[in-house]
Amino acid sequence: MAEREGNNVSKSSPPRAPAFVGLDAIRSRRKGTGEKNCCAAVGSRRDFWDRLFTEGYRADVLVQTNRGIIPAHANVLGMASPVLKSVLNNSKGRRKSISIRGVPHDAVRVFIRYLYTSWQEEMDQFVISLLVLSHCFLITSLKQECVQKMEKGFLTTENVIDVLQLARLCDAPRLCLLCCRFIAKSIDAVSASEGWKVMRKSNPELAKETVKAIKHDELRKKERLKKLEERKIYIQLHRAMEAFIHICRDGCRTIGPIDKVLKGSDAPCNFPACKGLESLVRHFAGCKNRVLGGCSHCKRMWQLLELHASLCDQTDECRVPLCKQLKEKMQYRKKKDDIMWNMLVSKVLEARIFSGAPFL
Ligand SMILES: [Zn+2]
Ligand SMILES: [Zn+2]
Ligand SMILES: [Zn+2]
Repeated sequence: MAEREGNNVSKSSPPRAPAFVGLDAIRSRRKGTGEKNCCAAVGSRRDFWDRLFTEGYRADVLVQTNRGIIPAHANVLGMASPVLKSVLNNSKGRRKSISIRGVPHDAVRVFIRYLYTSWQEEMDQFVISLLVLSHCFLITSLKQECVQKMEKGFLTTENVIDVLQLARLCDAPRLCLLCCRFIAKSIDAVSASEGWKVMRKSNPELAKETVKAIKHDELRKKERLKKLEERKIYIQLHRAMEAFIHICRDGCRTIGPIDKVLKGSDAPCNFPACKGLESLVRHFAGCKNRVLGGCSHCKRMWQLLELHASLCDQTDECRVPLCKQLKEKMQYRKKKDDIMWNMLVSKVLEARIFSGAPFL
């Protein structure tokens, strides 16, 4: 109590909330002072709760720490934490008492202050203790705020192992994941740290689990990248299909249907795949190995023609060469080939969703 009384109350009071400068401020200026008054009301209410804690007016609970006593109000504590409520209900006597030791006195003080108000700047330096307290007293909002604080540049190669162990004890899975990601990024520096060495000796199982979690996370990342790469290829194929239909139907600059007069001077079209396809179609038209299948360019062209035939749902109107013949030929494909081919076709169709355009 003596410690508290020694504090300068006005110094420990939080600064007033800054005035809104966004849309709300503009609206309130238009509407008059209605919303401005509302902001001021919220600020003064926060000040009121802070003063209630700081001044300890009619406090009926004494929170005992390892370096002093903090007066508080049973109603506030009990409403904020089910654990504190239960402790207070079981505590006898007019002046109730709670003991919170094992964490620094100032950490307990800012913790109790939080129960009255909200996160204050001075809490930043006690974030580890606050995580423990939030877990012990079941205050989910505080736990989330601690994890959010730790997400922003709090982890270092020196503290990450301690934070990881604490995150496991405090049942904070997001923080565990953040620690594992941090360790994975700086594995060389972390494995040389004191924390890692101690953990390997005192808790070898956890060290093994951490390595396993890191490997699992890396594997997941690789798989995700692989899927993204695959999706890119299917999107490219989908775009090539679109461009192919456009070349065969409308013609593009110098290449197109026989019945169309094309001027090479036309402006470039909207299909980026056209340029590559133009040279491929030109090559296919003139290559002697086209039917024999000995040329890689022609093979690619055959694949595109077959893919088009698989995707095309037009009957007689389709202008793409060999579409009808290839559709008929496909009916005699081997079953085993069909599975692979159908998978490719469905992936290209799926890519249409990601590229956001319907087939022409
Ligand atoms: Zn084009
Ligand atoms: Zn060829
Ligand atoms: Zn077709």
